[in-house]
Order: sequence, then C-alpha cells, then structure tokens
Amino acid sequence: MKKTVILLCLCLVTLTARAQVLRPDAFPPQDETLDAKSLTMANTLEEMYQWNRYPTYDVYVEMMNHFAETYPALCHLDTIGTSVEGRLILSLVMTGTEENDLSRPKFFYTSTMHGDEITGFYFMLRLCDTLLSSYGTSAEITNLLNRVVVYINPLSNPDGTYRGGNHTVANSVRYNANWIDLNRNYPNPFGEEPLDSIQPENLAMMDYAARHHFAMSANLHGGSEVMNYPWDSFTSYERPHPQAEWWKAVSKRYVDTCRRYNSRIFTNVNSQGFIAGGDWYVIYNGRQDYFNYYHHTYELTMEVSTSKKLPTEQLQRYWNIQSHSLINYIKEVFNAPADQPEGIAPHVEADCRVYPNPTRGWVTVETPQGSRNINLSNRPAGVYIIPVEGHPVKITKL
Ligand SMILES: [Zn+2]
Repeated sequence: MKKTVILLCLCLVTLTARAQVLRPDAFPPQDETLDAKSLTMANTLEEMYQWNRYPTYDVYVEMMNHFAETYPALCHLDTIGTSVEGRLILSLVMTGTEENDLSRPKFFYTSTMHGDEITGFYFMLRLCDTLLSSYGTSAEITNLLNRVVVYINPLSNPDGTYRGGNHTVANSVRYNANWIDLNRNYPNPFGEEPLDSIQPENLAMMDYAARHHFAMSANLHGGSEVMNYPWDSFTSYERPHPQAEWWKAVSKRYVDTCRRYNSRIFTNVNSQGFIAGGDWYVIYNGRQDYFNYYHHTYELTMEVSTSKKLPTEQLQRYWNIQSHSLINYIKEVFNAPADQPEGIAPHVEADCRVYPNPTRGWVTVETPQGSRNINLSNRPAGVYIIPVEGHPVKITKL
C-alpha cells in the first residue's frame, strides 16, 4: 500500500568547512620569474621537431594537424571544444591498424589545465610523435596501439598558456581567460557546486568524457613531482578510494621506472613519490574526482616536474626520465579493475529523510522500510554514503 507520508529528500551537502589547504602549485615557486631566454620557442615545425623548445600556438596547432596528415591510418584529430578566447582544445586519437576482434579500451591523457604547468604539454606532443613514429617498427608500441585507443589532449587551457600572446609561453598563467582555476571548477560529487559557473573549457571536457567513456586517464600538472591518486576531496582516513591499493601499485610502477633513469626524481613531496590527493591537501571541484566518480574513469593527477615552466634545456632530460613510464601507464588500462566498484557513484535514494543533516552527532534516517539512528560522533568530517535498510543515504558530518 502506498505510503501517504511524503518523505523529503534531504541530501543537502553543506561542506561548510571549506578551509582549503592550498597545494604548493597554487603558489608558484621561484621559477615563475624565469627569464624568457630559458623558455625558447619553436617558431616552425622543424624547430619543434628538435624537441628542445616549446611550441608557439600556431606551431602547436600545425603539429597536431601534421600528425593527422602524416599518419592518416593511425590517427585523426578531434576538437574537444574552444577556449574562452576561441583557441582550440585538441585531441589526437590514435589506434593501430591491425584488424582483430578485441574491443579496445579508450585511454585519455590530458595536460596543462593549469596554463603555466607546461612540461606535460611538451610531454604529450612528444608522446604523440613517439607512438605514431614507432608503430610498425617497435613491437611494444605496435602491440599497444593495436589493443587500445589512445586520446591525447596536450593542452586543455590554451588561453592560460598563451596569456602573453600566441608567440610565447613565458607569461603563461594558471587560470583561464576568465581568471578561473579550471581545477576548482568541476562538479563536485561530494559537495557544493563550484563557486563560479563551469567554464567553457571544462564544459567541453565534460561533454567529451560523456561521449567517450574513457576507461583510464591521467591529467598532467607541474609544480611538484608526485603521483596524486584519488580522492582529492577526502583524506585517505576519511574516505579511501576503493581501489587505493591498485592506485598505489600503479603509481609506484610509474615512479620506480623513472628512478631507473634518475634516482632523485619524484622526491619533493615524500620519499615514495605518490600520495592520496587528500593526504597532500584536500581540494574540491577538481577534475580527478569528477572523472572517477561521474565517469567511472580511473584518473590520477601526475605532477611531472617541480618546475612549472621547465626551462627548455631540461626538456630532453625530463622526457628521457619519464617517457617509458608515460607509455607504461597506458598499459595499466589492461590491469585496471573491470569497473569502478559499487559505492563509487551510488544512486542515492530520494525517498529518505535525514535529520539533522549535516550533523556532528546522532542523526536519524527515515527510509520506506523504517527509521534508524546513527551516531557520527566518532567519524571524521566528510560526506558519507551509508546503507540504511538497503538504501544508500547521503549524510554529511561537519
Ligand atoms: Zn596544476
């Protein structure tokens, strides 16, 4: 018999304690004052192919088109969207030509949502070139591309990178043209909506993710050297990622491989070179948690160089240290747990009532099957999804 009581959904999430500990990369280290001479620009495709410079915007776009024109059987160029100022947000889609019955998982690399963190921008262009030029000659790359579809977006905040004009990255900034931090601007699965409206760069990325269902991804940053795995919205004590052990193993493999080439890399945050994002510092409305939660994409944040604007004379060295790890990380898609486990993105029942919510102590939960009192006193602050009589209920502890 239908219940006559209309139960209100009180799934309000009020993360009032939003005191954010800002990551080191929120406050640029000294290298921001680098003189432009250490950021040599490639003004032609030929100069860019020397791999010791950053591209001008025009050379970047030309190179992405050049890949598609040179290797038409292996790749094509997608436009994810355009920035506030109308620059292109591009993605090169690569896969092998071998016909087989394998369903190929989709893997996504995306870099430089913070426009001044440009090492990853260079890495991604060089990775495109390496994958395409090695297909058919390297058994490793050939096999990889025959089994996976690799999407690479080298630059997701072009307005930030070319803030000083299309000819230079010397005046690149963290923010987009509306002066908004794109990595605090995604829908937050665990809390409030972002303070500012979701920016065109992120709307385009959200749409791209929704269309492609990437199995695994990474987004590249700079300012530190550490593998930052989910969650960013919680410490691991408050809410560990259900696949935290897998994330640690993946991160360790990346770091260990780099250390075969340089033992001191990935040591500035901690000695192991990887960390749960929230244990480093908690952020909300970041991209990583959005992708893991809403799209079931295994995504982590790679901080690939302590210097945000790595001087061009160091680009080769950093590439040599990390290129093997960047390729190996793509292969991890085959080791990924089949799907994000239950509980990652639970459907929160609407016909439940929680009061008071948020709370610090006892909370009463009413479901169609009955009510239950839960004591949150001994739990750390955060958002909890607690099954009550078989119904997932969202409760906020202040
Ligand atoms: Zn960053």
